[in-house]
Amino acid sequence: MSDEFPTSAADIAWNVRNNLISAADILERHLAAIDAREGDVHAFNLVLADEARARAAEIDDAVSVGRDPGPLAGVPIALKDNMCTRGIPTTCSSKILDGWRPPYDATVVTKLHEAGAIVIGKTNLDEFAMGSSTENSAFGPTRNPHDTTRVPGGSSGGSAAAVAAGFAAASLGSDTGGSIRQPAALCGVVGVKPTYGAVSRYGLVAFASSLDQIGPFAHDVADAALVLEAISGHDQMDSTSIRQGPLEITRQLDMGVAGLRVGRITDLPEGASPDVAARLDEAFDALRDAGAEIVDVEVPAFGYGLTAYYLIAPAEASSNLARYDGVRFGHRVEAPDTNAMYMATRTDGFGAEVKRRIMLGTYALSAGYYDAYYGRALKVRRRIAADFAAAYERADVLLTPASPTVAFHLGDKTSDPMSMYLCDTYTIPSNLTGDPGMSVPFGTGDDGLPVGVQVLAPALQESRMFRTAAELERRAPR
Ligand code: GLN
Repeated sequence: MSDEFPTSAADIAWNVRNNLISAADILERHLAAIDAREGDVHAFNLVLADEARARAAEIDDAVSVGRDPGPLAGVPIALKDNMCTRGIPTTCSSKILDGWRPPYDATVVTKLHEAGAIVIGKTNLDEFAMGSSTENSAFGPTRNPHDTTRVPGGSSGGSAAAVAAGFAAASLGSDTGGSIRQPAALCGVVGVKPTYGAVSRYGLVAFASSLDQIGPFAHDVADAALVLEAISGHDQMDSTSIRQGPLEITRQLDMGVAGLRVGRITDLPEGASPDVAARLDEAFDALRDAGAEIVDVEVPAFGYGLTAYYLIAPAEASSNLARYDGVRFGHRVEAPDTNAMYMATRTDGFGAEVKRRIMLGTYALSAGYYDAYYGRALKVRRRIAADFAAAYERADVLLTPASPTVAFHLGDKTSDPMSMYLCDTYTIPSNLTGDPGMSVPFGTGDDGLPVGVQVLAPALQESRMFRTAAELERRAPR
């Protein structure tokens, strides 16, 4: 056994597969970290210590008889609590799913299992993934491990914090408008939104189905690649799943960026704070030093993304959330007749932000307003896609900030939804286009807090995006 205890997913899997460290030991280290700090951080809705211990024993047994548990052997992974786990509560951090236990596993859960990973717990989120700070959880906020007076970002704040605090070697989140990349930036970890359709959404509780994607959080770019390779690939249970095998990223990870055209968007919407803007400039310099060519591009419709998103996402959410009616899932408030029961259940079961989205979406879809709001938002969505396609004629990847600012204080934005929505200015466009994006830590900003740089690439060009991120990681200010 080596003296240095491995923390990266790649090192853990290597050590476990080669019978150098037991999965049980790895797991106990992570459970001890949870014991020590979870009270302050609140990354989890549920820690699955018993289940994880049983699973670690299975993996160690397999290794002892010469079987290979897989590329994620013994890696403790945390799951955002909007991914279905058979027989295990899946809450979406909402009161309305109280007591519901899914009868099946999400495809990503099955794939993690097949790769030898250990699910260590279900992480906190903004209710139904609506938010940018994890303060909209029915179970209380998650706190940023770098400074517990600050938010971890959201909506996958629990998953980001779990990795940053060393509670899990990697985690999964979902990203509809930025919910993986923004918390990754704020917590100083890597976070990836893959190409729409690259990872199955079967068993992900739907928020806005044309935008939702599952992706990994990890300590470093190589680990994120490892996890993404394990969870990607065609799934016949998801009709939007792309018909191709798992993404291949790791093989090209160390190829560098020589000759790569890295686009700087000259008409990027304003709003990035000076510290974040400075790190972005340095990121361009770092890639230039590494042999990339920096090219100026325009994406004129970029700035309309936020507006289009806040029509399309609530419209889809209002439809998706209609199923929580007190009949089929979780929570029910009894009332004299069915309509009164629906109303009482939904009034009591949903939080304020979820109600706001349902109302916005219902309005945008209503007769007389459909064309003016929802229909027009779809046109804007097409414009954005066309603008990105044109930019990608001239650039292979694009760099932007991931989040406009470093982690803000709890309570700072809760009374002003618009200021919260602006957190997603730079992440939303790639959800609308379906293209991949990732946040990679690149130095620190105000108060020594982590800054994330976002790398964007055309659909299914994850390996190019990861190569760029790996170079940024190698050259990040320390
Ligand atoms: N913060 C955005 C929202 O509130 C994005 C959420 C997400 O990506 N799930 O809708």
